Amino acid sequence: MRMTVLASGSKGNATVVAAGRTCVLVDAGLSCRELLRRMAATGEDPAALTAILVTHEHLDHVAGLSVLARRLGVPVFFTEPTHRAWVRMVTPKTTMSYAKWLELREQEKLRADEAAAYAPAHTLAAVAELEPAELEPESEEDSLADTKPRPDPAFLPAVEYFRAGQRFCIGEIDIDPFTIPHDAADPCGFVFHARAEGVRMAIATDLGYIPPNVNQALRNVDVLLLESNHDLEMLKDGPYPWSVKQRVLSRVGHLSNAACADFLQRDYDGGAHTIVLGHLSEQNNLPELARLAAEQAIGNRLSLLGNRLVLAAQDAPLAPIAL
Ligand SMILES: [Zn+2]
Ligand SMILES: [Zn+2]
Repeated sequence: MRMTVLASGSKGNATVVAAGRTCVLVDAGLSCRELLRRMAATGEDPAALTAILVTHEHLDHVAGLSVLARRLGVPVFFTEPTHRAWVRMVTPKTTMSYAKWLELREQEKLRADEAAAYAPAHTLAAVAELEPAELEPESEEDSLADTKPRPDPAFLPAVEYFRAGQRFCIGEIDIDPFTIPHDAADPCGFVFHARAEGVRMAIATDLGYIPPNVNQALRNVDVLLLESNHDLEMLKDGPYPWSVKQRVLSRVGHLSNAACADFLQRDYDGGAHTIVLGHLSEQNNLPELARLAAEQAIGNRLSLLGNRLVLAAQDAPLAPIAL
């Protein structure tokens, strides 16, 4: 089983988790082109992707989602509320004025009346089914972009739903999604279990704190990708507007180095082969600070159990972690 972190941070997140012939991408928060570039750089074959899983609908997790899913023709797994929120997000809002709408409606009615005057009844039924844009253009003007059918931005090759707390399975991997406290529609972390290898890997980023259910989910994992988002002092003194600082610090914001360290010290069972610190803020954190906090928290258990501590980055992928 392996985990390849392609990117981690507030400018884009994507991680490959693979076992046997099953290969899933968790989040697609970079452009399709960049995702494919990083997969090539780490030896991950895009054609081998079985599915894409979405943790939540924030842009740094879905920026390249629709383009990549369409390009590769793979299904996308969401919770239903996350899918709904994503569809709302990518569907352009109608900015048409009421006057313009009335005008268009009148034109449509005129066309329908004209058609009614000349066409036999069965054709009429067909015309009534058509979108206005599909009707034969009467002049050059009608064929302008205004009335052209546009591709649906929320179109995906296939959509599958999962629910937090309910195990599902993709190929050779069992997946346990768990709810995380974050300001999105229905955000989730995941534990992946490769049945054949008996290996477990977990992803938990974008969470304001670690509630008991997350604590429980992160037991007995061999590889743990955990958020270590910000240094509290750097955030407080940093350039973010007050409202954004409040959001990051809140119970549905992001996990600080201190909170991450607190978990590692008090609740972490010490059994992971590798701990990956992820979703580091570029503005409000330094890799050395995140590493130091985690190392101090794990203390001498780090060497005792042969744990490895790795820092995921925003601008470059990590080498695959294979067990
Ligand atoms: Zn994020
Ligand atoms: Zn988020």
